[in-house]
Amino acid sequence: MCGVTGIWSPPGSDPTEAARVTFFALYALQHRGQESAGIAATDGRDLRVVRRMGLVGQVFAEPDLGALGGRAALGHTRYSTTGSSRIENAQPMVVRDESLGELAIGHNGNCINARDVRRDLEAEGVSFQTSSDTEVVAKAVVAAPGATWDQKIVHALPSLSGAWSLVILTPRALYAIRDPFGVRPLVVGRKGGSYLVASETSALDTVGAELVRDVLPGEVLRIDDAGLTRVADMAADRTGLCVFEHVYLASASSELGGRSVYATRERMGEILAEERPADADVVIPVPDSAIPAAVGYARTSGIPFREGLIKNRYIGRTFIQPSQALRQHSVALKYNALRDVLSGKRVVVVDDSIVRGSTSGPIVQLLRRSGATEVHMRICSPPIRHQCFFGVDMARRDELIASQMEIEGIRQHIGTDSLGYLSLEGMISATGATRRDLCTACFTGDYLVPVQLELSKESLERQRA
Ligand code: AMP
Repeated sequence: MCGVTGIWSPPGSDPTEAARVTFFALYALQHRGQESAGIAATDGRDLRVVRRMGLVGQVFAEPDLGALGGRAALGHTRYSTTGSSRIENAQPMVVRDESLGELAIGHNGNCINARDVRRDLEAEGVSFQTSSDTEVVAKAVVAAPGATWDQKIVHALPSLSGAWSLVILTPRALYAIRDPFGVRPLVVGRKGGSYLVASETSALDTVGAELVRDVLPGEVLRIDDAGLTRVADMAADRTGLCVFEHVYLASASSELGGRSVYATRERMGEILAEERPADADVVIPVPDSAIPAAVGYARTSGIPFREGLIKNRYIGRTFIQPSQALRQHSVALKYNALRDVLSGKRVVVVDDSIVRGSTSGPIVQLLRRSGATEVHMRICSPPIRHQCFFGVDMARRDELIASQMEIEGIRQHIGTDSLGYLSLEGMISATGATRRDLCTACFTGDYLVPVQLELSKESLERQRA
């Protein structure tokens, strides 16, 4: 995942504002990555950067924001896809060109040919300090021919393959760039005289900015004191927004392609109730991500919606913790059950997805221990059978439970009375898009571009070793 954001304010703006607005926008993007966070800011001469491991609120203290003064900034919150979770791989990354000076970059996505591009650059004498694909993107830009950053960026991008929503900051301009398929979201907004860019509209809302428009697939936009300029359009012949953004990744308070994520998730629940009905007394969500879907399921089925699980607000998205040991421990800490709601009841429990299958079993046990007489699990997406190479660290293919067993096997494994998944067609129709508008590879195995199936997030580290 990862969240990216940036701001460019007009001359004469309060020099303490840009980093502060970026900080709050990053807070609103925290759900997209919890491993590290960073902000780069410029006063028009050089770039200053603060980046550390941890949550946004832990990474920045008041003195950091003061030291980051300037009228333009770029922020990043990280969830690792290529490159492991450590400080060297944190972003924004800063690279330097001898004549053009410094450039900071924040990346959401995954460059799937990073290994090859890096090998070619190393052959030309370029050296690398990290195992992240973002450094490969940044150094490909520096190494590209051109007398301006515009020219270098436009030259470098076609050599890359995969998913990138990029925000780039130089002392003279802010760039917002989306890959040719538009796999990850990216929007432009305005607040007074300032332009903002962000992974999701919810970040614009948080800082009081208005949505201008989506950055379109393949667009390179430059924002500077002259305003917003479209530098290039490299759109592919189809688009491919990740359908899992609709299912789980994006905040329910965001809009994707002009459509409310909350409304899409409600619709998924409604269709799921038609496709996979259940005879039950109560519908409960696995909070928070499945709340809208459970609302939709209850509305269409006529079974009352209740909250049966309370999530501890201070424990983040457990899945994001990079190791399985941490993940399993956090499941137990994450939910408390409401006996009054569950006792003696046949319960439909709605969740957005089953990935490895490690969350569902403990939840079912908790519901039964709390008095549920039957547990019927309903999932608002189809079985996930294929690895994501485009920016979601879902799991390796052999770790995905639905790639190892059929639905009946999964039902037995998690211990439910019944298990029903939303169909592919149902999920797509809930988004209002068509199959050719979306990347559905984790469900179908149809990747936007051919992928090397053995790629893993540590691939650049292994190459280096
Ligand atoms: P699992 O226990 O591996 O089956 O994970 C499924 C749970 O993790 C679901 O409840 C989802 O809400 C959540 N989830 C699904 N995909 C992701 C992801 N890529 N990152 C973080 N959490 C996820």
